[in-house]
Amino acid sequence: MRCSEISMAIASRFERTDVGKIHEVVKWPNPVLSKPGERVTVFDAKLKKLVEEMFESMYAAQGIGLAAPQISLSQRLTVIDCSFRKNPEEKVVLINPEIIESRGKQVEEEGCLSLPEIRDKVTRAEWVKVRAQDVTGKTFEIEGTELLARAMQHEIDHLDGVLFIDRLSRLKRDLIIRKIKKMQKNGEW
Ligand code: ZN
Repeated sequence: MRCSEISMAIASRFERTDVGKIHEVVKWPNPVLSKPGERVTVFDAKLKKLVEEMFESMYAAQGIGLAAPQISLSQRLTVIDCSFRKNPEEKVVLINPEIIESRGKQVEEEGCLSLPEIRDKVTRAEWVKVRAQDVTGKTFEIEGTELLARAMQHEIDHLDGVLFIDRLSRLKRDLIIRKIKKMQKNGEW
C-alpha cells in the first residue's frame, strides 16, 4: 500500500467515526415497540452521542421523527426534525417528555419508520405543549402546531409503547395487520 492510500484509508475511517453509528430501525411486531420506555436518568457524553446517532439514523431512514424504542432502546428519548435537515433550528430533542396541554383536532395521514409503506389518517390534537429535558438534563417547554404537534404526539406515543395503528379503529387496524402478515409471508416485510 502506498503512503497516499494509507492516509486515505485512515481519513475514511475517521469520517465514519464522526458520522457515528447508524442504528437499525426495528419493525412491527418487534416487542420493544409495545413496551413503555424507561426514564433517562444519566445525562452524559454517551447520551449526546446517542442523540446525534439517532438524528443520523432518522435521516438515513428518510424520517422526520425517531424514538429510542425504534432502535431497540427502551428509553424515553426521541428526536424530531420536521425540516428534514434543511433548518438546524427545527431539530428537536425530547427526553422524558410529557404533553402538558393540548387543544383542537387535526386529521392527517401518518406513517412510521417501524411500519414501512403503511399510511392512514390519524386524529391528533392541533396544538400541544410539551415539557421535556434536553441533553444536559435541563427542563424546557416547547409548543407546536400542525406537523410538529403531530410528530411530537406520534413520537411520545412510541415512548408509551403505542403505534399510530393503535389509534385507528379496530377494523382499520385489523386490515393493516392482515396486509403486513401477507407481506411477511411474501418476504416483503
Ligand atoms: Zn413512528
